[in-house]
Amino acid sequence: MTERREFLKKAGVFGGSALAFGCNSEQKQTAIHTKKTYEWKMVTTWSPHFPILGEGADKIAKWIEEMSDGRMKIQVYGGGELVPPFESFDAVSGGIAEMSHGASYYWAGKSAATQFFASVPFGMNAQQMHSWIYFGGGLQLWEELYAPFNLVPMPAGNTGAQMGGWFNREINSLSDLSGLKMRMPGLGGKVIAKAGSSAILSPGSEIYTNLERGVIDATEWIGPYHDYLMGFHKIAKFYYYPGWHEPCGTMELLVNKTAFDALPKDLQTIIRTAAGRATAEMLVEFDYQNQIYLQKLKTESKVQIRKFPDEVLEILKNYTKEVIEEIILQDSNSKKIYESYSKFQYEIKDWIDVSEKN
Ligand code: CA
Repeated sequence: MTERREFLKKAGVFGGSALAFGCNSEQKQTAIHTKKTYEWKMVTTWSPHFPILGEGADKIAKWIEEMSDGRMKIQVYGGGELVPPFESFDAVSGGIAEMSHGASYYWAGKSAATQFFASVPFGMNAQQMHSWIYFGGGLQLWEELYAPFNLVPMPAGNTGAQMGGWFNREINSLSDLSGLKMRMPGLGGKVIAKAGSSAILSPGSEIYTNLERGVIDATEWIGPYHDYLMGFHKIAKFYYYPGWHEPCGTMELLVNKTAFDALPKDLQTIIRTAAGRATAEMLVEFDYQNQIYLQKLKTESKVQIRKFPDEVLEILKNYTKEVIEEIILQDSNSKKIYESYSKFQYEIKDWIDVSEKN
C-alpha cells in the first residue's frame, strides 16, 4: 500500500510539473546571454565517423550543443587525430581533452575492474546490463572506480549482442580451437587462450589483411553490419554465433571530473541526457542495421552461418569462470564489482525466464 501511495504522490507531482515552464521569453533571453560558454574537446577510440560508434560520438556532441542552445560546443576527434585511440583515458584524466567516447575494457591496463562495465563473456545482455548500471548499483561502483583517475564515467551506447566470429574451419569440438590464432580482445581472449588458441590483438584497420595473409586464422569483430563492411565474408567460410564473449558491448563517455564538477547543473544534466539518448539509440540502430546485413550475408555471399556446438560453449563457460576467478583473486575492486554484477545477473534470471525465454 505504501508503495502505491508513493507512486500516486509521484504521479501527481509529475502531472503538475508542466506548469513550471511559464517563464517569459525576455527573462529567458537575458539568462542565456549572461551565462558562460564552454568549448570542449572529445577524443574517441574510433576512426573518425566510424559507423554507429563514431557517428554516435558526433551525435552526442551535436545534441549537447543543441540542448545547451550553443553554450557548450564540443569538437570531436577520431582516434589518432589528437591522441592515439587507446590514450583517450589518460588524455581525459590529464585534461588534454575534457571528454572521450570508447569502451571501458580498453582500460584493463589501468584497472582490471574496468572490463566488467563493458561486457562479460556469458554475462548479461544490453538490457540487463543497463538495468544493473542505472538501477542495480553499477553506475555508483563505476564512478567510485574512476574517481581516483579524476574521471566521471557514464554509459553512452551499446552494440547489443555480437557475433562469435569468422573461421575458415568448422568448429565441431574444442580441439578445433586448439592452435588457432584468433583476433579477440578482452576477457574473451583470455578464455580462448585457455582453450589452446592464441589470442591476437589487432586494431580494426589491420584485421582484414591479417586474416587474408594468414597472420591470424580467425577473428571476431562486431556483428553483421560492421563485419559486412569489413568484407570478412570474402575471405572466411564460416560465420559463427553466439558472440559468447560479448553478449553486449557497453560504450562509455568519460568526462574529466574537475571540468564536470565545475559545470553548472543544467549542463551536467544535458551531458548525462545526451549520453542516455546515445545508450538508447545506438542499441536499436545496431539491431536495425544487423538484421538488414544478416540478410545481405545470407543472400549475397556463400558464407555458412553456424552455431557453436553446446558442448564447446559449455567448456568456454567454465574457462570464463576460471579467468574471472583469477582476476578477482588479484584485485579487490574487480572482486567488489564482479560480486555486484554476478548477484544482479543471478537475481534477474527468474524474471528473464518468465518474461523472455518463451
Ligand atoms: Ca567484438
